[in-house]
Amino acid sequence: MQPAGFTLVMNMAVAGLFAASYVAIALLNRGSRAPIWFAVSYAIGMLTPMAQLGLAYSGWTVFFGGLVFFSFAAALLAMVPALAVFYRTRPPWRLVGALALGTVILGPALPLLGRGRLVYELAYQAPFAAAMAACVWVVLRASPRQISDLMLALAFALLAAHFPAKAVVAWRLGTGSLPTDYIGTTYALVSQVSSGILLVATGLVLLIKALQQVIRESEAVAETDPLTAVANRRGFTLRAERLLTEAREHGRPAAVLMLDLDHFKAVNDTFGHAAGDAALRAFGALLRRSVPQSALVARLGGEEFVVLLDRTPMDAALLHAEALRLATLDCAEPGLPALSVSIGVAALPVPYDLSRALERADRALYAAKRAGRNCVRSEEMRPSLKVKS
Ligand code: GH3
Ligand code: MG
Ligand code: MG
Repeated sequence: MQPAGFTLVMNMAVAGLFAASYVAIALLNRGSRAPIWFAVSYAIGMLTPMAQLGLAYSGWTVFFGGLVFFSFAAALLAMVPALAVFYRTRPPWRLVGALALGTVILGPALPLLGRGRLVYELAYQAPFAAAMAACVWVVLRASPRQISDLMLALAFALLAAHFPAKAVVAWRLGTGSLPTDYIGTTYALVSQVSSGILLVATGLVLLIKALQQVIRESEAVAETDPLTAVANRRGFTLRAERLLTEAREHGRPAAVLMLDLDHFKAVNDTFGHAAGDAALRAFGALLRRSVPQSALVARLGGEEFVVLLDRTPMDAALLHAEALRLATLDCAEPGLPALSVSIGVAALPVPYDLSRALERADRALYAAKRAGRNCVRSEEMRPSLKVKS
């Protein structure tokens, strides 16, 4: 076998390994469609070196020649919607359709340009360069925030630029007078190695990003309460520690509100468990929309919730708690049971000890329950300030 033949086999295996990796990621993360798209792109990409081998070692020049060109264009073009799905943006279907149509028209017209001429080589590489340029655009359009996104855009930009460069090299070195001669040329070796390295580098950055996304999504699931979509106890503890570290560094006050729905057992007993669940969802949504964006909301379990307010001294926290208590009275949607909530408030001054603050808020909550429910209490409150409605 010619040296370029070995590189073709290696490129085919590498494309296969990438396709298999994305299938594995898709199986790990069943809700996500992007890995399936990536797997499809790499699976189509396997056809190209396969067809190049077919071209070299079978007599079916037109069939395999066409397959080389169209399979590579299709594999690179499939990357455009794949990236859009990955970045949760709308795939640019019109652009993809226009590029696909251009490729279908260009393919049969290529021989007319004269094999070996610069214009032919440039036209041959044009669909590949255009598909990669579209990938750069999709990544940058998704307003990348991380260095890895910029690295990915750069990798696709290098791929886009290397295709016209390859056309010039092909024109200078020659790709053989017949399509079947390609495999024996120096150009075939240069082309397979350079494209192989760039495609693997891009594939690796993409694979790291896809794995990062799987990890992030499974972390989010592990830290979210499935019923109300607010954080669960685990999510709350992790995020609260981060928030309090920041508060400690900047000497900012914080406060914790412990909330427990009143007589919730009776709500279930009277209206049924499904209505109870709907009430919990409505209350979770009320908390999310009522607190400042920087605040943490979590369901600690049952009908007990917690809110951690950043940059909030005690008096402001009491006002927030009172507003939440009043909003809860109106939170019932048609057909849902009326709710009321008791709230215990604790401030988080130095040393920002979360578990001690939670204990104090919990004691204040029990004081609110003892005081008849549907009220706000804190251990710091003077009795004369205590509000009872
Ligand atoms: P209190 O005013 O003293 O807080 O009375 P309560 O009835 O709210 O408190 P208790 O702790 O006696 O009951 C809590 C109830 O919350 C019992 C349980 O049926 C209900 N509950 C806990 N988790 C869920 C849930 O996920 N869905 C529904 N529908 N009910 C839940
Ligand atoms: Mg309760
Ligand atoms: Mg309770």
